[in-house]
Amino acid sequence: ETLDKGLAKTKSNVFAKLSRAVAGKSKVDDEVLDNLEEVLVTSDVGIDTTLRIIDRIEKRVARDKYINTAELNAILKEEIAALLAENNKETEADFEAALTKKPYVIMVVGVNGVGKTTTIGKLAYQFKKAGKKVYLGAADTFRAAAVEQLVIWGERVGVPVVKQQMGSDPASVAFDTLTSATSNDADVVIIDTAGRLHNKVNLMNELTKIKNVMQKVVPDAPHEVLLVLDGSTGQNAFEQAKQFTKATHVTALAITKLDGTAKGGVVIGISDQFHIPVRYIGLGEKMEDLQLFDREQFVETLFE
Ligand code: GDP
Repeated sequence: ETLDKGLAKTKSNVFAKLSRAVAGKSKVDDEVLDNLEEVLVTSDVGIDTTLRIIDRIEKRVARDKYINTAELNAILKEEIAALLAENNKETEADFEAALTKKPYVIMVVGVNGVGKTTTIGKLAYQFKKAGKKVYLGAADTFRAAAVEQLVIWGERVGVPVVKQQMGSDPASVAFDTLTSATSNDADVVIIDTAGRLHNKVNLMNELTKIKNVMQKVVPDAPHEVLLVLDGSTGQNAFEQAKQFTKATHVTALAITKLDGTAKGGVVIGISDQFHIPVRYIGLGEKMEDLQLFDREQFVETLFE
């Protein structure tokens, strides 16, 4: 239901266009495929992924000789589901199993403004609601606002936030956080980091250093490196994914602000292009507006 509301703009945009793309046509021909391609590209599925989808559909049209446009929707749905399945094999149960590591350490990366702090707050809320003891680490020490916002979320949710003064070493904040968390028997630790993309080498060095220092406390940390991307920024989100995957080993994506965009196709394209699972989707500004990504439910909702 939340998903349905959150994806409403994408649904009305993409699927209205899809039906227009095939309107008045009785079978799938080149023109229909061209229209379909345009709908997918303008929905931010991304050109590479769009071409893959079109190619798969073309093959089916060739094989099955005749496919009417009514069937095209069903085929498109199947193909998108198949694409998402390739990079989103993990089930909720797998994730639950991984979570039994104690503490389970999530390092959160992403540029400013994408919804990083909000996502961390929402995550803290979810984990706490699930009965987990959560610690947050304010390792984005370059922006006073980032630390303040995280502290506000900590108070709102009722979880401790470990911080130091502005400009201190992010790795040292991460170390402090893990030390406090382990000595207080925490289940989940979420570390915020600064997302300054203007210097790739610095970014890489900083994230590597944070990881190394964390491993002095929890040897296999971080268990998740979560890249937060703003789903309403299209090509920028693709570009950021490119930069961050070069700088560090990103294990999962959180795609935010899907409620504010008609171009939710970004979820399909980014996952496909970078071979990274989408772990969470953000569907609003409130504490509850974050969902563990369920690819089947996502596709069902888009096409229902
Ligand atoms: P940060 O700079 O990356 O930490 O970004 P913030 O967490 O401060 O978020 C920036 C703005 O985006 C804030 O106004 C948030 O309320 C808003 N925001 C974050 N996630 C979502 C979402 O899923 N949907 C909507 N509509 N707004 C969001």
